[in-house]
Amino acid sequence: MNYQPVIGLEVHLHLKTKSKAFCGCSTEFGKEPNSQVCPVCLGFPGSLPVLNQTAFFYAVKTGLALNCSIAEFTKFDRKNYYYPDLPKNYQISQYDMPIASEGFLDIESEGKPKRVGIIRVHLEEDAGKLIHRDDSSCVDFNRAGIPLLEIVTKPEINSPLEAYEYLTLLKSTLEYLDVSDCDMEKGSLRCDANVSVRKKSETTLGTKTELKNMNSFKGVRDALAYEIDRQIEVLGSGGKLIQETRLWDPQKLKTHPMRSKEEAMDYRYFPEPDLPPFVIAKDKCAQIKREIPELPRQKVLRFMKEYNLSAYDARVLASSKSNALYAEECLVNYSGKDKKQIVNWLTGALLSQARSRNCPLSGLKVTPSDLIKLVGFVEKQQVSALSAKTVLAQMISTGRAPEEIIKEKNLSQICDESSLEAFIEEAIKENPKSVKDYQQGKQNALMFLVGQTMKKSKGKANPKVVQELLKRRI
Ligand code: ADP
Ligand code: ZN
Ligand code: MG
Repeated sequence: MNYQPVIGLEVHLHLKTKSKAFCGCSTEFGKEPNSQVCPVCLGFPGSLPVLNQTAFFYAVKTGLALNCSIAEFTKFDRKNYYYPDLPKNYQISQYDMPIASEGFLDIESEGKPKRVGIIRVHLEEDAGKLIHRDDSSCVDFNRAGIPLLEIVTKPEINSPLEAYEYLTLLKSTLEYLDVSDCDMEKGSLRCDANVSVRKKSETTLGTKTELKNMNSFKGVRDALAYEIDRQIEVLGSGGKLIQETRLWDPQKLKTHPMRSKEEAMDYRYFPEPDLPPFVIAKDKCAQIKREIPELPRQKVLRFMKEYNLSAYDARVLASSKSNALYAEECLVNYSGKDKKQIVNWLTGALLSQARSRNCPLSGLKVTPSDLIKLVGFVEKQQVSALSAKTVLAQMISTGRAPEEIIKEKNLSQICDESSLEAFIEEAIKENPKSVKDYQQGKQNALMFLVGQTMKKSKGKANPKVVQELLKRRI
């Protein structure tokens, strides 16, 4: 294929503030329609906006975490358009002086590092929500005025997978910063994707389309893959692309045209006269910077270095702040030489249980110290790997300590030779043919006899010890 895709992403994010961007109304999700409104967010004449300081500082924090320069001087602008969900007929946004600009996010795609440039991070307000019924349409203004952060990348992403990786890391970074709940289902994180293709030899950008209506990161990836194919097909057959906005249809797995793209001049941007311009004090900026925690990418690199984890394991464990905290407590306190022993439990059984319950690792009732104990029992062969799974399931459902469960269910592994002998004798007596086969050199027959002995012990015999004893016996 001699075409290269070029992608730029625009992410809109609800900031996790108690009140709206320019009034005191609550931002709580799921309340009765139009119960969280006031003259300001309903755009009544004479009402005046007041900037929410927390939203502003969250924007600065996000800009800093994305390696942006923070504007010393910033202002808000009116973006004018008419739509039923927009009571003022303009949205307070930022046009030419965003709070943060010129940053980057370092991602990894297919094992390769990649730097994605960020053009800008700006603060604006959300519009209301239209609800369409069979014979009418309603509008809920609870969402109108919720602080929205827009994060725009440079056209530097070159595949649907890179776009997916960028979004995944961005979301995890935002969760670490604790500035948004990033819940796509509630609409608190939305993404529009701009995409064009060009011949690999070309340096100018091709005509782009803007894709909307994707409700998951996988949706973004699928929509981009579809759209790239479509654009290549149009160009390949001698056609021309038009700059337009297209909607992704998650059922048909296709994009279809929505409208031709509007230009910035169509919005007649002008400075918001009801808000003063803002100056960001250097020391306030420095203070916010100090409050930024270790971010997921740094954590991954540190986990790899400090605990010798694979890149994959480190990424899985660091993808959420709370899971990373839990995992690190296990890793620090686990005294075994091979950290992989405990990592396998964390990324395997434990994480899949947490996911199916939709809770973090810490929500599972299994404390790090109990998990460490369980892994220790397996390592010392006091309990078989199979029984350990049963024990873990019990730990998860009851929160009890592993040694109690092992004792109560009589799950400790039998290593002691004299207790195993009876099972071995029985297995030999019942399977003379296998014994003969083994004596004639068939290794498989030995494994069969090990299996039979295990069965007789109800899975509690230590398979290694059984194998040794059998070899000696026959
Ligand atoms: P618009 O004025 O249409 O909103 P912008 O220049 O503001 O366009 O860019 C919006 C997004 O589109 C950015 O993420 C940018 O990287 C991306 N973009 C711009 N031009 C292209 C292009 N030719 N191909 C792909 N993405 C593009
Ligand atoms: Zn209000
Ligand atoms: Mg734009």
